[in-house]
Amino acid sequence: MNFEQMTDSFDREHLWHPYTSATHPLPAYKVRRAEGCVITLDDGTELIEGMSSWWCAVHGYNHPVLNHAIEEQLKSMSHVMFGGLTHAPAIELGKLLLRIVPPSMRKIFYADSGSVAVEVALKMAVQYQYAKGCPKRTNFVTIRSGYHGDTWNAMSVCDPVTGMHSLFGTALPVRHFVPSPQSRFGGEWNEQDVLPLKETIETYEGELAGLILEPIVQGAGGMRFYHSQYLREAARLCREHGLLLIFDEIATGFGRTGKLFAWEHAGVEPDIMCIGKALTGGYMTFSAVLTTDEVACRISDNYPNAFMHGPTFMGNPLACAVARASVELLLSSGWEANVKRIETQLKTELAPAAELPQVADVRVLGAIGVIETRKEVDMEWMQRRFVEEGVWVRPFGRLVYIMPPFIISESQLTKLTSALLKIIREIKEQKPIG
Ligand SMILES: *Cc1c(COP(=O)(O)O)cnc(C)c1O
Repeated sequence: MNFEQMTDSFDREHLWHPYTSATHPLPAYKVRRAEGCVITLDDGTELIEGMSSWWCAVHGYNHPVLNHAIEEQLKSMSHVMFGGLTHAPAIELGKLLLRIVPPSMRKIFYADSGSVAVEVALKMAVQYQYAKGCPKRTNFVTIRSGYHGDTWNAMSVCDPVTGMHSLFGTALPVRHFVPSPQSRFGGEWNEQDVLPLKETIETYEGELAGLILEPIVQGAGGMRFYHSQYLREAARLCREHGLLLIFDEIATGFGRTGKLFAWEHAGVEPDIMCIGKALTGGYMTFSAVLTTDEVACRISDNYPNAFMHGPTFMGNPLACAVARASVELLLSSGWEANVKRIETQLKTELAPAAELPQVADVRVLGAIGVIETRKEVDMEWMQRRFVEEGVWVRPFGRLVYIMPPFIISESQLTKLTSALLKIIREIKEQKPIG
């Protein structure tokens, strides 16, 4: 394997990749095509996809149904402005979404990306409080280890340590953080868990517009799975103290955790909900913010009688068309059985990792498998080892995890899990970090 040939010199010189140095970047492997669960590199190397392109490509790549939806839409229009105009793709997608989200969600705001959806949700909560006669309620409380995106307000509610708040100083709004719940999903509930949240809400009620969190699964902030009782308690506290409850289901949505949306694990409905990532099956950036009639009416029936947001590419017809096709495909594809099958296989095949001295924890929920190591992994070494083994897995920090497309076959998944175990076993031989 020639690693030089798998990268590109222009790319290395001029293209900045996510969370990397422009001068000493980690290698970026050049992809020629992607089909089903296989990513093919420029030199012909085939990799089994373990990341679904960051939670998105639930149906795999180059899917004929999704391709067809975009091609058909392209023939009539790729875009028109959403101010004063509307179209069937937006309407049909909306009808479909309302069938699958919490019943109290009645209004839909389309946005461009997950981060923008979070911005929109936070603005909605502030405008709601303003309309209710509480203009001082402009701040938010959240739990540590969260991840909500990279724009300013989204970043302000990300974990302050892993989100690197110190870098941005006073440019970043200061939010209230409480410890993330320690009671594990499916484990015992410890009622102490919710006390810090209770205390913070009671103390700062007058300045808090809402609580934002990722229900059940905290994704990029730590890959943690927490107890559903936390959501029930949090919801009760929000109702008692006039905070809006915002669920960020951008990563958890569309079946990933074993339910269509993670709120179903707790049976708690939010006031505002963000969805994105797998919404378009990984075809393009798109998101939506959903809310109740109560929130929407309050904002709309008071000054300035409008919600003050409107992206240029709002409701993009190509994105709506492929999102509709993706959601329909998901609902008709037996996703639940697929996710269950992946969960069972992940539990069996990752279990031996728990015995390894390098490993602190192994956890599986739905189609998410996480191995947490004791020490931070050497990402460059590990990434290269994964490529050598013919799989695509991108670890970060102490987290080596997979969340494959739901269509992955049993043997492809075994290839992923055996590569994971093999390489984790090698950790002790890697060169020391730094
Ligand atoms: C990825 C993610 C976001 C941000 O989405 P982008 O499309 O990358 O802006 C927000 N919240 C959660 C939970 C996410 O996983």
